[in-house]
Amino acid sequence: MPFLTISHISKTFDATPVLHDISLDVVRGEIVCLLGPSGCGKTTLLRIIAGLERPDRGKILLAGEDITPVPSHKRDFGLMFQDYALFPHMTAGENIAFGLKMHGWTQQQIEERVTELLALVDLAGYEARPVYELSGGQQQRVALARSLAPNPRLLMLDEPLGALDRTLRDQLLVELRSILKQLGQTAVYVTHDQMEAFAVADRVALMRAGRIEQVGTPEALYLRPVSPFAARFLGMSNILAGTIVSLAPPLIDTPVGRLQPAALPAGLRPGDAVQLVIRPEGARVAREHLSGPNHLTLTLVNRSFRGAHTLIQLAGPGATLAFEIPGLGCTARPGQSLHVVIGPEAIVVFDN
Ligand code: ATP
Repeated sequence: MPFLTISHISKTFDATPVLHDISLDVVRGEIVCLLGPSGCGKTTLLRIIAGLERPDRGKILLAGEDITPVPSHKRDFGLMFQDYALFPHMTAGENIAFGLKMHGWTQQQIEERVTELLALVDLAGYEARPVYELSGGQQQRVALARSLAPNPRLLMLDEPLGALDRTLRDQLLVELRSILKQLGQTAVYVTHDQMEAFAVADRVALMRAGRIEQVGTPEALYLRPVSPFAARFLGMSNILAGTIVSLAPPLIDTPVGRLQPAALPAGLRPGDAVQLVIRPEGARVAREHLSGPNHLTLTLVNRSFRGAHTLIQLAGPGATLAFEIPGLGCTARPGQSLHVVIGPEAIVVFDN
């Protein structure tokens, strides 16, 4: 049975529909990410789950109980928002203890809990440190400890690491996930960053203009995006228009040449127009151009060494493509012709 059920939620602000009939289940102990571009309704949905906003239609159920009419402070949920700042004049320990006092915990229970949580977020011994003396990353750990302290039934996080730089964010994400998993904490996490969603979530709900476009594990979303929008949002920028040439073998003519994907969506016929995506890691550089599908000769526009891979940008008739070639796998100069071979698995085809 799902632990949290979001059932047919709709919301309109000032006559503008913001959420359209959203349904999503979260099982106990699961971390689900709401991912999507700015303005797609992620925060509004989170605020409705939290009870900070009333839906126009639909229900929120927790462990089978309809909590839609239950006010926010009676839901026993934890919140961690980017702008949900700590009290700067208090110590780390006092910040974590704050909510517990309001919940009527005894002094001894509070002290034990604060010690336990500081250890959990790798800040053992920091009880008496004023918050203003802590680094940004340490402050976010205290904020996480504070939101976890009262054992919330559900933890909601809205871009909790948004203010931190990339390196620190990547490190904290891994720790955050491992802490939540260690506790078996059910959590809903909002972000517009695909890498962040993939790093933290068991499942991702990709949102688009108030609707859920696709739900699945990060692997499933990446391997099988349901639409060009999903593919683009998941970092696949090589999008081409094409025409089906044959079904067996599956062949598609595109402006850059003939391509053979591993599979085609059902119901297509020769002559049908399609869109297709080529994953950035799906090409290798070849010494010579061989005839046949998936062998393309394009002009190198730009080459950028990124350490683990080299990013190459290629231009062909009517299209620009970007690929990640492992290591130093391409040493050609901009302006040169380059032969690349595309792996059939790297081509994802969408019915128009
Ligand atoms: P972001 O990542 O930028 O925070 P989001 O996906 O979380 O975006 P929401 O904050 O849920 O999106 O906003 C969705 C839409 O609803 C936006 O167009 C926003 O302007 C509008 N909106 C949100 N809250 C209100 C409100 N209280 N009154 C009027 N419009 C609102």
